[in-house]
Amino acid sequence: MDNTVQDPATGDPDGDDRELLLEYLRHNNPPCPVCGYCLRELTHDVCPECGQRFRLTVGSVKPQFGMLLLCMVPMIMVSGLALLFAALVVDKGLPQREVWGLWAILICGVVDVVACVALYRARGWFFRASVGVQAAILMSSWLVHAGLVLASFMYGVR
Ligand SMILES: [Zn+2]
Repeated sequence: MDNTVQDPATGDPDGDDRELLLEYLRHNNPPCPVCGYCLRELTHDVCPECGQRFRLTVGSVKPQFGMLLLCMVPMIMVSGLALLFAALVVDKGLPQREVWGLWAILICGVVDVVACVALYRARGWFFRASVGVQAAILMSSWLVHAGLVLASFMYGVR
């Protein structure tokens, strides 16, 4: 998503952001993130050494993606298992025995791909949720998928 704000007076895509950047550089001593050149008192938003253009932005010190990734791990594992089963069905054909576990894994694998993409796209909502809600989603994801895989292998083949 492009968060650039266009200055209505100049049509400049960065508008006031450039002034804020230059003001920041008048009082601070950051290195160019590309070449390391000292940017103090720069009068343009371009590095004189490497030509890299800058903008002032807010960055996270240490992004915390662990809980989100841990929620996605069982979804990705079941999707991988479904892909393996799908490849076996394509190669060997449908099994002769009643195998609801196979179909459960295949269907859940497809659902998990969609759920994984949806969770990633809704990550803003996820990160704004309390740690308790995140932990509940995490535990639910693992319990549902572990239960599905165990039940499929233990009882899903007759
Ligand atoms: Zn540079």
